[in-house]
Amino acid sequence: MDHSWDEQEREDVADYLTQGFVFRAFGGVSMCRFCGIGNGEVELTDGSWYRPEGLAHYLTDHGVRLPQVFVGHVNSELEFLEDAGTDTDWWKAQGGSKPEVVEES
Ligand SMILES: [Zn+2]
Repeated sequence: MDHSWDEQEREDVADYLTQGFVFRAFGGVSMCRFCGIGNGEVELTDGSWYRPEGLAHYLTDHGVRLPQVFVGHVNSELEFLEDAGTDTDWWKAQGGSKPEVVEES
């Protein structure tokens, strides 16, 4: 545990951990090793790493700090997404932006 971990980085990593695709599901609930609450029953993946879906709880509620190799991975992924920009050409090609109004008779 490390309660001195930068709060913004902890929050960013915790938010990232709540996202992902289901990698595996289990027939029972995982219990938090500290407080005993039910803490998920699947593992999530971002395509590179997989982790229990309840891992964010350990960061936000118990001050757990993850290894720098994983934090670096998350920061790299977040930077990539923030720098990706938005291509509006595809959206504009989909037609007008005003919804069609249907009047009831
Ligand atoms: Zn807990």
